[in-house]
Amino acid sequence: MENKKTDTASALKDIISHAKEYGFVFPSSEIYDGLQAVYDYGQNGVELKNNLKTVWWKAMTMLQDNVVGIDASIFMHPLTWKASGHVDSFNDPMIDNRDSKKRYRADTLLEDRSALLEDQGKADEAKALMQHMAKCLDAGDLEGVRQLIIDQKITCPVSNTANWTEVRQFNLMFSTQVGAVSEDASLIYLRPETAQGIFVNFLNVQKTGRMKIPFGIAQIGKAFRNEIVARNFIFRMREFEQMEMQFFVRPGTEMEWYATWKETRMKFHQALGLPADSLKFHDHDKLAHYANAAVDIEYKFPFGFKEMEGIHSRTDFDLKSHQELSKKKQQYFDPEINENYIPYVVETSVGADRLFLAILCNAYTEETVGEGEQEKQRVYLNFHPALAPVKVAVLPLVKKDGLAEKAQEIVKEIKFAFNTTYDEGGAIGKRYTRQDLIGTPYCVVVDYQTMEDQTVTIRDRNTMSQERISIADLKEKIGHAVSMERIFEKLL
Ligand code: ATP
Repeated sequence: MENKKTDTASALKDIISHAKEYGFVFPSSEIYDGLQAVYDYGQNGVELKNNLKTVWWKAMTMLQDNVVGIDASIFMHPLTWKASGHVDSFNDPMIDNRDSKKRYRADTLLEDRSALLEDQGKADEAKALMQHMAKCLDAGDLEGVRQLIIDQKITCPVSNTANWTEVRQFNLMFSTQVGAVSEDASLIYLRPETAQGIFVNFLNVQKTGRMKIPFGIAQIGKAFRNEIVARNFIFRMREFEQMEMQFFVRPGTEMEWYATWKETRMKFHQALGLPADSLKFHDHDKLAHYANAAVDIEYKFPFGFKEMEGIHSRTDFDLKSHQELSKKKQQYFDPEINENYIPYVVETSVGADRLFLAILCNAYTEETVGEGEQEKQRVYLNFHPALAPVKVAVLPLVKKDGLAEKAQEIVKEIKFAFNTTYDEGGAIGKRYTRQDLIGTPYCVVVDYQTMEDQTVTIRDRNTMSQERISIADLKEKIGHAVSMERIFEKLL
């Protein structure tokens, strides 16, 4: 029986240890006891993450007629962040508990309380609480937010007291100085989102690419946020990677495009193998200062349904602010209607790390196999074959009698086509298990029959069934199964 561990907090613990033990994700600078909310991807993690980035990149550019990519730098002119609103309002409200000295996001404390009320069947109360909070935050009434926390009798989970400080705004941008001589140095920021690199290049791309509206610009890159409370493994990090696409449209058509992109992005996640009932849309109650519509695609992580991707209709807010501050026109001449205008923007923004976590959680499978005395537990990672870090392991049944050499010959033949590994150490069952644990979809075994008739067995990770095929057919058979085309076909 299959038992997917996706809905308890202890499942997350199992997944975190699995990720570490099998080379997917390590805590950063671990020999110094790590750095909070920063992680490194290991030898298998980087392959999975690269595959996710490639599949996203191709789905957003190659498969679209009118989307191109760029790679902008992390450092940008500091006025960029003034124009975008990040200097003035990229804040989270924080509150400290005086007894435990622990720091929390005030809005998260209230959101958690609202979720609890909802679980208790008090949906109206839950909604009213969120509306009250949104009103206070919009008005900059931080004392009001604190009062809500007191009125709700929310206590610190560590000290169990309600001895709260005042609520303060905390800007999430990391800053540093550029320039060698301190007098000349000026303050710059590590970008908190990749989107602005696209906005400031809007005209460069439009003109040099002779792009006609509607068109999009896609980008993958690092972003940095000094998150107040970082938790849930790679879900909330201080350094992370975003995959964003800004789609520039004629004003007035943004809602149609918003609906189209919502549907396209939901399809994408399902095509990667995430089940429909583990994904849902969540409309924003409180719109960001730049948006006229916003929705999250949430995935059912072991700690509940949480945001994985945001889709926002950003109006002309960003280009307009850049035009005002830079004094450079950010307009497009639309030949169809003979008009100049600042385009509206619909953006899709997904965290590569959150998508990675969703794919890993969904893939982690514990299963009981065999019967009676033969019964045992096995764990495997059920990745879509196109996403798996290693596509095929070639295993000689034994090292002697030329089997190892034959297996290595096969590796040489197929390793240009897809990620192939070779393993000759230990009993064959143990070697299968090793591959199951990192999610390798196929194991090819070279045995004595291979030496006679040039055939091998090929074992399927999920069903554990084996079939015998000719070495000559290997490349095509595996190549077909692990190709990203299998994902793209589902996007049509
Ligand atoms: P949250 O509400 O969880 O803080 P957000 O609404 O601020 O997220 P956006 O600004 O919309 O997030 O960023 C787009 C995407 O970037 C998110 O959907 C998420 O996948 C990813 N992301 C944002 N912050 C982080 C983070 N600290 N660590 C990892 N991924 C992140």
